[in-house]
Amino acid sequence: REQHIAFLGLGNMGGPMAANLVQAGYRVTGFDPMPPAQEAARATGVAVVGTMVEAVQEADVVLTMLPSGRHLLEAYLGQARPDDGAAASAPEGTEGAPQGLLAVARPGTVFLDCSTIDVAESRRAAELAIAAGHRSVDAPVSGGVVGAEAGTLTFMVGGDEADVAAVADLLDVMGRRTVHCGGHGNGQAAKVCNNMLLGISMLGTVEAFVLGEQLGLDHQALFDVLSTSSGQCWSVTTNCPVPGPVPGSPANRDYQPGFASQLMLKDLTLAERALADTGVQAQLGPAAAAIYRQWVEDGGAGKDFSGIIEQLRERSAGG
Ligand code: NAD
Repeated sequence: REQHIAFLGLGNMGGPMAANLVQAGYRVTGFDPMPPAQEAARATGVAVVGTMVEAVQEADVVLTMLPSGRHLLEAYLGQARPDDGAAASAPEGTEGAPQGLLAVARPGTVFLDCSTIDVAESRRAAELAIAAGHRSVDAPVSGGVVGAEAGTLTFMVGGDEADVAAVADLLDVMGRRTVHCGGHGNGQAAKVCNNMLLGISMLGTVEAFVLGEQLGLDHQALFDVLSTSSGQCWSVTTNCPVPGPVPGSPANRDYQPGFASQLMLKDLTLAERALADTGVQAQLGPAAAAIYRQWVEDGGAGKDFSGIIEQLRERSAGG
């Protein structure tokens, strides 16, 4: 493989994605400020370096898998965070200069961001990359850690046709499907719409099952109807919030994720921001965000997002 990849953010998702690129024969140089992530990546064959700047200097593609848009913009622009090692890496005589990645990468580098971030921040990051003489593609993913490990992610992609084509082979290694959704930020836009719908559909599914329980329906009977009727959706047929009907769903293992509630809350918070930015007068997206926010505060953060059925049962007890 000819492309040299700088991979920034070797966490739960980035670690296995980088490992798959190494397996496929790519040269991958990685950076993450957390020692456990560094060690795990090194063990899979990633050339882990001590600074972001070092990682990108010779890269053709800078792939980011970071927690938020703030992390991304700080990496691009170089308001050096104390833990990122950038200050220490500044070449002789430039210590203290803000060494953003956009300034140190070779002209024409593809900045491929796979993190889930705010649509407006994603578009801003693309503008900055292009203004600095680079290329930009946003490609958030769905499929979770299991998909990252198996190389079966779905990428929702925004950017220019030629730039998307330049990373198509890479994406094929890490995922099974790529949907090109339009210009810069449109990948993030598709992701935020999908996950807002997912949050809402899970809450609807949970309400249907708890109402069914109170009306005397057993789980299997209600599942058999929902899964073959107009209430059918992924939250029923794949991630069913009650144990039994779908043996692989997190409900069968005490709501071990799966997709943790805190990540669902992150995505619903991005949806709230997108709704506010666009002036869309939605009611269910913000309601879903408020319900998940409460559940996360009440201790549900690390449970699968289908575990929110427990909250509704508790609230309904004695009603
Ligand atoms: P994570 O917290 O496990 O990993 C993020 C990594 O980024 C951490 O190891 C952190 O140390 C590192 N990091 C922070 N600042 C950095 C910097 N400047 N340079 C390099 N590395 C830096 O999170 P994750 O679960 O891997 O998620 C990553 C992104 O993928 C998030 O945007 C998340 O919303 C998205 N996502 C996650 C899932 C999932 O199921 N976990 C699914 C889809 C999308």
